[in-house]
Amino acid sequence: MSNIDLNKIWNYTTAKESKDHILLKEKYDLFINGKFVKSKSRKYFNSVNPATDEIIAKISEANKEDINFAVKAANTAFKSWSKLKAKERAKYIFRIARMIQERAKEFAVIESMDGGKPIRESRDIDIPLAANHFFYYAGWADKLEYAFPNTSHEPIGVAGQIIPWNFPLLMAAWKIAPAIACGNTVVLKPAETTSLTALKLAEIIEESGLPKGVVNIVTGGGKTGSEIVNHPNIDKIAFTGSTKVGKLIKRSIAGTHKKLTLELGGKGANIIFEDAAIDQAVEGIINAIFFNQGHVCCAGSRLFVQESIFEIVVEKLKDRMSSLIIGDPLDKNTDIGAINSKEQLATIKKYINIGLEEGGEIYQKKCSISEKGNWFPPTLFLNVSQSHTIVQEEIFGPVLAIQTFRTIDEVIEKANNTPYGLSAGVWTEKGSKIFKLTKELNAGVVWANTYNKFDPTSPFGGVKESGIGREGGLHGLKAYLKFK
Ligand code: NAD
Repeated sequence: MSNIDLNKIWNYTTAKESKDHILLKEKYDLFINGKFVKSKSRKYFNSVNPATDEIIAKISEANKEDINFAVKAANTAFKSWSKLKAKERAKYIFRIARMIQERAKEFAVIESMDGGKPIRESRDIDIPLAANHFFYYAGWADKLEYAFPNTSHEPIGVAGQIIPWNFPLLMAAWKIAPAIACGNTVVLKPAETTSLTALKLAEIIEESGLPKGVVNIVTGGGKTGSEIVNHPNIDKIAFTGSTKVGKLIKRSIAGTHKKLTLELGGKGANIIFEDAAIDQAVEGIINAIFFNQGHVCCAGSRLFVQESIFEIVVEKLKDRMSSLIIGDPLDKNTDIGAINSKEQLATIKKYINIGLEEGGEIYQKKCSISEKGNWFPPTLFLNVSQSHTIVQEEIFGPVLAIQTFRTIDEVIEKANNTPYGLSAGVWTEKGSKIFKLTKELNAGVVWANTYNKFDPTSPFGGVKESGIGREGGLHGLKAYLKFK
């Protein structure tokens, strides 16, 4: 198990040094009923470092029998966990939060090795935010009567939670913390390319003394996920992932008693007006699309530039792109890491070809790309319009489609014209424009003069094909309670 010197990791000067001091197990089992157990399938799949193609660990593939076992453990645990004094539940959740903080460096290195994201992001965003979610919901556990006064509320039961690969530990925290704070128990499945930090979290949960069966972590791919979704003794499904799988899940639980929240895809519109602070906006636009290689559901993947400032904005974007550092995710100077998987790289390339075939004009940052691993340069598409596929569909990579607009009403119409409704950004010095846009943009989240800012106190989620329900803040509690 882990024998790393936590204080040393950041002192290593090279990526290799920090990697060499993270000890991973060769094989990971399933975490069910408070301990690691072998999968009944006896099958393992590889977790691959997307920057080097190295196999870093073998992960168990849970089958139907394993899911039965996990759901049974969660159901049994629910009987006592749901009745435990809320302040006692809070103590465990606080403990988990503190343990994540204590092992933050280890988590950050593993997250970047397993998923490809720059260590600066894992270290400064993913891991601290994951701990903050546990702290935040630990705080609510014994105050639910103040959150929902004059309303009787009860936990729902066993929550089946399925998460994607773009923010692995953070998504696990978003799901587990509010669920157990409200007295539910959990069967969580991480994405198959990034199971490791969820399994490290399982180690912490074991050490924390959390009663057995309250949190079960099972690994595997889509088939394992569908066993969770279709299990009759699960009471709530919380899914974050693609719109395609979200729709499938909605169909498959229709007619059952299961409650559902869906956090799905997006095609965020970033809108820059001629009165904006342009340099600040350009920095925000770069962050909005290139953060985490664009593997972000709320990425600002469409840019609308007011016509009068089009040339200057594009020039500044190109200039800023020239200084982005692409490379080893474990290097502290890296801005853009590896694409999470070969499949995702193929998807991005497919969209690039479609963009070109449909007449888009491409601009890419020049960079030398290693033969090993999955890499894609930051990319702009100009000369595109509303009907272009790359303007309508989620690419989930570092690709920005740029259009122009003249009036505020025109840009609102264009921004709202996709099947998605997750996020948007507005860059202007005029408060009146911000008020109008936040009201009229059909998105669950609208940022003004900033982008990609997350906080446990803020609800997050989408409209239209971007999802159902909200996570975070008080809304995140509602998703795990029944009201009488
Ligand atoms: P995905 O839908 O392919 O997979 C998500 C999870 O679902 C994985 O754990 C996967 O194993 C599982 N899964 C796959 N098929 C399943 C099935 N039939 N039944 C049950 N589970 C199944 O998505 P992805 O490629 O991992 O993630 C990228 C997508 O997630 C993007 O569309 C992105 O926008 C979305 N996302 C949304 C949010 C949000 O908060 N709205 C956050 C992060 C990612």
